Amino acid sequence: MDWAQISRELGALIQGEVKVSEPMRKHTSLRVGGTADLLVFPKGMADLRTILELAQDRNVPLRVIGNGTNILVPDEGLKGITVSITEGFKGIAVSGGRISIEAGRSLGSVVRTAVTKGLGGLTFAGGIPGTVGGAVVMNAGAFGADMSQVVKAVEALSFTGRLKRYRLEELGFGYRTSVFQDHEKAVITRVAIELEPASPEELRAQVREYAARRRTTQPQAESTAGSVFRNPPGDSAGRLLEEVGAKGMRIGDAQISPVHANFIVNLGRAKSAEVKALLEETRAMVEKSFGIRLEPEIVILS
Ligand SMILES: Cc1cc2nc3c(=O)[nH]c(=O)nc-3n(C[C@H](O)[C@H](O)[C@H](O)COP(=O)(O)OP(=O)(O)OC[C@H]3O[C@@H](n4cnc5c(N)ncnc54)[C@H](O)[C@@H]3O)c2cc1C
Repeated sequence: MDWAQISRELGALIQGEVKVSEPMRKHTSLRVGGTADLLVFPKGMADLRTILELAQDRNVPLRVIGNGTNILVPDEGLKGITVSITEGFKGIAVSGGRISIEAGRSLGSVVRTAVTKGLGGLTFAGGIPGTVGGAVVMNAGAFGADMSQVVKAVEALSFTGRLKRYRLEELGFGYRTSVFQDHEKAVITRVAIELEPASPEELRAQVREYAARRRTTQPQAESTAGSVFRNPPGDSAGRLLEEVGAKGMRIGDAQISPVHANFIVNLGRAKSAEVKALLEETRAMVEKSFGIRLEPEIVILS
């Protein structure tokens, strides 16, 4: 496939940027992985429709990413078209307790808006560094709450170009999962959440408290992709990994954080293969000692 040629064609059709052979370490918080054949940043719905149509016409692989804070990109890179919605889709509209947000907006900025407007229920998300779209896909959560408790509806454009509105009960939310992780091949474009009136001062205090708890329990300055494994029922992946002595283990430049055993940090030039090897090795250690097979929370792209 002549990606430079496709890039020129697409570049003439859309307003957003098109990058050829783009290093994905620049677009992921873990800062590993090879290049994307084409990384495209649609500015809005018209751009997005054009990209999806082209991908279908040429029969090329297609995937969408948000802020890249929960993904592991392979060293071989990403084939086909990768869509990042972080340069468009930033709108937000507040009406009473209801907030309608375009999916490329950062979750942190929505938390700040909610706090300022005196709307409670989203403070748990203050330190989650992704987009609103990514947070819905992952049903992101912390401190005993998650997105499923505030999301009311989602709008998504299927890879075949059909715009669909999903009601809460159609989103298949579970622990760190949703229908978009399984079978729904679609780009989330808009999310409606509903929050309750609350005191801005109390909300601010809560955000500060959660941030302080993160500072003392999670790696701060290093490149990570958040929790590596989901917590098994009734237990904590971090505790199990710590018990088997995983903290500080290292393969190449990938290391199990000495601060929190469920985080892998990139010490500089880590390869995706090193991250995967560390994930598999520590998973095997937990399985051997506890008979529990941990399931990855990070999305391992192929
Ligand atoms: C320091 C740190 C702390 C973290 N803390 C938490 C935490 O407390 N709780 C938690 O749950 N997570 C946490 N995470 C993980 C991560 O931030 C969340 O999962 C976040 O919601 C992912 O959003 P994103 O935009 O970065 O998605 P990405 O990582 O870009 O993508 C994640 C998945 O969503 C899909 N996707 C993204 N956007 C769209 C879209 N618009 N339409 C369709 N599919 C899409 C991608 O294909 C991929 O499968 C943390 C990560 C880091 C680095």
